[in-house]
Amino acid sequence: MRTIDDFTRPLEYLSPLDDPLGMIVREWAETWVIPHRRRFDEDWKEHRLIEPAFKRLMGELGLQRVLFPEDLGGWGLGRSNYAGTSSYRLFEEVARADSGMAVAFGVVFWPLVMICMEPHVNRQLCEEFAPIFCSTTEPRFAANAMTEPQGGADIENMEIVKGSTIQTTAVLDGDEWVINGHKLWPTNSGGVCDLFGVVCTTNPGSEDPNDFAFIFVPADTPGVTQGPPYEKAGMAADKNGDIWFENVRVPKHYRAHGPGLDLLYFKEVITFGNLGSIAFVGGSMMNVYERLYQFVSEETYRGKPLKEHDAVAGALADIARDIEIIRIVGYQYARMVDRPDLYGPRWSEEMVAKGRAYKYWACDRAVEDVGRAMNIMSFYGADRDWDVEKHWRDLKIVQLWMGGKQLCQAEVARWFFDCRTL
Ligand SMILES: Cc1cc2nc3c(=O)[nH]c(=O)nc-3n(C[C@H](O)[C@H](O)[C@H](O)COP(=O)(O)OP(=O)(O)OC[C@H]3O[C@@H](n4cnc5c(N)ncnc54)[C@H](O)[C@@H]3O)c2cc1C
Repeated sequence: MRTIDDFTRPLEYLSPLDDPLGMIVREWAETWVIPHRRRFDEDWKEHRLIEPAFKRLMGELGLQRVLFPEDLGGWGLGRSNYAGTSSYRLFEEVARADSGMAVAFGVVFWPLVMICMEPHVNRQLCEEFAPIFCSTTEPRFAANAMTEPQGGADIENMEIVKGSTIQTTAVLDGDEWVINGHKLWPTNSGGVCDLFGVVCTTNPGSEDPNDFAFIFVPADTPGVTQGPPYEKAGMAADKNGDIWFENVRVPKHYRAHGPGLDLLYFKEVITFGNLGSIAFVGGSMMNVYERLYQFVSEETYRGKPLKEHDAVAGALADIARDIEIIRIVGYQYARMVDRPDLYGPRWSEEMVAKGRAYKYWACDRAVEDVGRAMNIMSFYGADRDWDVEKHWRDLKIVQLWMGGKQLCQAEVARWFFDCRTL
């Protein structure tokens, strides 16, 4: 019998830690998540069931520390040549169990990419924020606050819009930034966030890259208000909500890098967002494969297992083909992230555009394939006992975030066809 490990990984360039780390997470998933996940949907607000699984993974196993330097209690992934491939494996394994947990876990690192990744480590801020994540066995959450009520896609569309629509303002007053604004939807908001990375402008309406600011704000700073979590179709483990910043004051050095560089390295944050999204899709589809494999082997039609019927086998082949290619594409992009010497900086327009291409392709394939899996499973496809409907709801959400499909298409067309007004 085949397993998810028969889908190809690029063995010649994996970190030696890829398998050991993957197996640790798989064991965690089998014990802490898979037996309980059917009840996660009802737990979207309280996280009574979800919280212990986060505590085990992030706090006790210590995976919330991986990006920080070793001497600050981290695992040094930010300076490793395997940051991309190791993250891909971790996110894929978590998403196989629950992609909502995978995004909540993955986004802990998302704003921290700005300060923990070589060659642009901000040592002072690493020292300041490492204890939040590295000195506890409780789960701690970070959030990347980009999206605003007037739009999220425009804020990510940096090559054309250049931050000119950002309405969250940062004004320097002596040695402090004073932040005012309203963000919505960040993963790990809805009351759980410990540390925000906030996309701001120092000059509203400006297209000058120097006016784009990425500023860290501890969630307990006076003037920060997190609203309650939204109730959405799936991904109950990821809390999303409104955040208001009202005359929030943080030290001047909480700005990640300063004029010009904040915008430049924020594009790397988008690259990692695309990489994570592909891993979440791939992980979810691994579990769709497992559940579907069991179903088509056990369920019979005219005395034969479903998988022995031509029409079903054709669809199974297409689904397996897509899962195989999603994994290969995901690892290839992770490799591109890990080898800037070969593929250029992680914050280049090319890396962002190619990541968008892989992300929206993976989402399109998976959303279509999970629908086909449900067709094969008929009413069991909608039955929570089979888990496939959960992945159907979750996968659609991955397709919607980070500017949705349209921004992906615009950025891919722009880079490959040199479109200048999209
Ligand atoms: C589960 C989940 C997690 C999320 N996590 C985060 C997070 O961690 N941080 C965060 O800041 N936000 C987060 N978001 C918000 C998400 O990234 C935004 O919803 C998304 O970027 C789209 O922004 P918007 O909803 O404001 O739509 P808008 O930006 O208002 O876009 C509206 C429509 O226009 C389309 N569009 C955009 N640009 C173009 C273009 N150039 N040409 C044609 N059409 C275009 C869009 O695809 C969309 O269909 C999350 C959302 C979800 C559902």
